[in-house]
Amino acid sequence: MMAAANPQPSTVHIIGAGLAGSEAAWQLARRGVRVVLHEMRPVRSTEAHVTDSCAELVCSNSFRSDDASNNAVGLLHEEMRRLDSLIMRAADANKVPAGGALAVDRHGFSAAVQAALEGHPLIELRREEIQGLPPAEWRNVIVATGPLTSPSLADAIRGLTGEDSLAFFDAIAPIAYRDTIDMSVAWFQSRYDKVGPGGGDADYINCPMTREQYEAFIDALLAGEKTSFHAWETNTPYFDGCLPVEVMAERGRETLRHGPMKPFGLTNPHNPTVKAYAIVQLRQDNKLGTLYNMVGFQTKLKHAEQVRIFRTIPGLANAEFARLGGLHRNTFLNSPALLDGQLRLCAEPRLRFAGQMTGCEGYVESASVGLMAGLFAAADASGTEASPPPPTTALGSLLGHITGGHIETIDNGPRSFQPMNINFGLFPPLASAPTKGPDGKRLRGTEKSIARKQALSARALRDLDRWIADMRAAAAA
Ligand SMILES: Cc1cc2nc3c(=O)[nH]c(=O)nc-3n(C[C@H](O)[C@H](O)[C@H](O)COP(=O)(O)OP(=O)(O)OC[C@H]3O[C@@H](n4cnc5c(N)ncnc54)[C@H](O)[C@@H]3O)c2cc1C
Repeated sequence: MMAAANPQPSTVHIIGAGLAGSEAAWQLARRGVRVVLHEMRPVRSTEAHVTDSCAELVCSNSFRSDDASNNAVGLLHEEMRRLDSLIMRAADANKVPAGGALAVDRHGFSAAVQAALEGHPLIELRREEIQGLPPAEWRNVIVATGPLTSPSLADAIRGLTGEDSLAFFDAIAPIAYRDTIDMSVAWFQSRYDKVGPGGGDADYINCPMTREQYEAFIDALLAGEKTSFHAWETNTPYFDGCLPVEVMAERGRETLRHGPMKPFGLTNPHNPTVKAYAIVQLRQDNKLGTLYNMVGFQTKLKHAEQVRIFRTIPGLANAEFARLGGLHRNTFLNSPALLDGQLRLCAEPRLRFAGQMTGCEGYVESASVGLMAGLFAAADASGTEASPPPPTTALGSLLGHITGGHIETIDNGPRSFQPMNINFGLFPPLASAPTKGPDGKRLRGTEKSIARKQALSARALRDLDRWIADMRAAAAA
């Protein structure tokens, strides 16, 4: 059914009361903006939801690490707490023992979110599916319908954004931190030194393999433990450019050598007279140049298996991964090309997107994008423009990546913008990284990396506090 139009210009309509939509509604209401929150459950459910509660956690009950000094998702928790996040408040009130992680009682968590939304006088929760584009009189809309957006709405959005701009499945290749790749083994070079659209002829990092290493790698891929699809995902469209790396290996031991691992057009400067038998290529993923994406390595191997097997690749023995591979049903936009810096669809700015649809990944990230969408929509509702969170914060770096920080590439295979979780590789590097500890001693190896993360976190919280203070001062003026 289509919802009735609401004539009040300042009302914000949010479609989807999941992690992002619930948080956005809360942020709007606490700024005095009236919200109509449209949620299709229980009228219609998704393949993964089992209740009609707001902010249902469809799988694990974990919000991952709660360490705000050493872990990017822990830092995101803290930033959201400082912005009075409903999702974080409900999570903290319903936490269960989980070591350094924040895990929650899922029923208590969702019930707390729903009670807060239903108890707020400015929020109206309507149980209905929005089946097409929202009516024209809805001037300020947040679409937060998640990875399992209902088909009729997804089709309408696809009609608006274009065939290639809304994906129904992801195809995620692992991403390694650039500074953990061993460049005494690997080297920069583009195949046949071909100049790419970015203007460089050495855009890829190349990791060479001997025949023995390649054969052992194929054996490991074939034997590695894989995750299986949910029953409702089994029609995943493996078109040839998107095959998981282990499925390519199953098709024939040489398939990868003629696909993403082909060794042609590349010369190893560390050993120029010996031709590699196979080569793994990594391509720059973000404008900051801190993240490198393993080209063509989308996979359904279990995460621990990916780390174990991919670290056998020469040059990646000590690689740290900002993201591991996967393939799932997932509805998400090519956001860097479609959304402006305030999460509005450039082609139709009354529509703002939030949550997993924007290409972030995870409960916390989805809620955090909902939080930012709520702030931006509240400013629109009062005729002002919100200043975005500083790029040095976890919120700002995630927003930056989604709305422009990713580098679009033109290789064959899946679209290069794929879902991303928060990680320190998305943060602008420090002006000067710490080299000495508090005791004045020179830092080494992991000590250095811990000190760097702590400095990034401290900078983020300092900048966030300043931004919050500025916002409060502007609101009071
Ligand atoms: C099967 C599965 C397992 C996952 N497991 C995890 C995990 O363990 N940990 C993790 O961090 N992340 C996980 N994710 C990823 C992701 O973080 C979650 O899906 C998260 O809930 C996304 O938040 P969201 O607000 O964008 O979407 P959702 O929380 O899914 O909320 C979207 C809401 O929109 C509603 N809706 C959809 N279409 C319409 C419509 N047309 N009209 C009205 N309402 C509509 C839905 O009913 C839903 O309530 C998983 C995703 C899936 C699909």
